[in-house]
Amino acid sequence: MRTIIKRVSEESLLCAAEILRAGGLVAFPTETVYGLGANFLLERACAGIFAAKGRPADNPLILHISSADELPRVAEKIPRAAFDLAEAFWPGPLTLVLKKSSLVPDIVTAGRDTVAVRLPANAAARNLIDLTGAPVAAPSANRSTTVSPTCAEHVREDLDGLIDMILDGGACLAGLESTIIDLSGDSFEILRPGVITPEDLARVLGAKPRLHAPGKDEPPRAPGMKYKHYAPKAEIVVFFGQAHKTAERVNGIIAASADPSRIGVLATNETAEMYDGRALVLSVGSRGDVLEICRNLFRVLRLFDERGAGVIYAEALPERAAGRAAMNRLMKAASEVVRL
Ligand code: AMP
Ligand code: MG
Repeated sequence: MRTIIKRVSEESLLCAAEILRAGGLVAFPTETVYGLGANFLLERACAGIFAAKGRPADNPLILHISSADELPRVAEKIPRAAFDLAEAFWPGPLTLVLKKSSLVPDIVTAGRDTVAVRLPANAAARNLIDLTGAPVAAPSANRSTTVSPTCAEHVREDLDGLIDMILDGGACLAGLESTIIDLSGDSFEILRPGVITPEDLARVLGAKPRLHAPGKDEPPRAPGMKYKHYAPKAEIVVFFGQAHKTAERVNGIIAASADPSRIGVLATNETAEMYDGRALVLSVGSRGDVLEICRNLFRVLRLFDERGAGVIYAEALPERAAGRAAMNRLMKAASEVVRL
């Protein structure tokens, strides 16, 4: 199967919606990362998402809706807090986990009695859902365990020939997957951190929801809790410590290497100059702008692979506000941590 790539336009959106209505798979831009969409009512199409991604069947999909009015169609026993959060953060990068309605097929929820729902801010995404006439089930448009795609080219690298169409809407604004909050139980829990922070949520909920920590025998409730996630091909080693100490240690490794060009260094604007330039030194942005770091992280991780880095030495990133979400992804991708 050839994959068509089209810039977002009135015509390409109509074509994409037609494909989704007919049971095909379309990758589309959102403000978080690119999504791989299927009409949520067509079980064969949803099964196609799992096949194209190589995704384990027990990892559920997020439903994307184009208006908050659709929420009662897909969810039941919706608590007041869900409407309050929707009012405050939708359209936007927040996913709500709620009790599912009987309309939602088991394949979407991986057999759970809960459903994850989001109203994306990206206008092309909302138009596509509207034109399809049904919620669109979509995880990130990458092969399972690899780095989520933040532009159409990343989707092509992973899924060319495996899906019907890629809608190219340029680079994603947030660059990290949505914050997921589970409102289906007695206490609210953040299942995945994102650019909407616990403090942002607390302003609406009145109290800060806790971060979910899975118990030993409990099945995973969100990505990264069971499977290796967000990882480029190169091994990642994360360094915690003062900038000059990290640079000194990494420069020592670079100096001792027979092929420094295969060493990647994930740095920031403030520190990039401190590293031996024979290595592949890439900045994820300024330490003063955590949203810029979120936006760039996945793109830079993919760039290391593209340029042939065999290992990536990464600075710990500022763990402030949304920066904690970027650091969460970096740590899930890391195979080693060094504390200086
Ligand atoms: P992805 O964008 O690829 O990370 O896929 C969406 C993520 O949303 C999945 O990996 C799920 O773990 C999460 N998700 C979807 N449905 C549910 C649910 N009912 N409960 C908890 N998490 C969910
Ligand atoms: Mg994913």
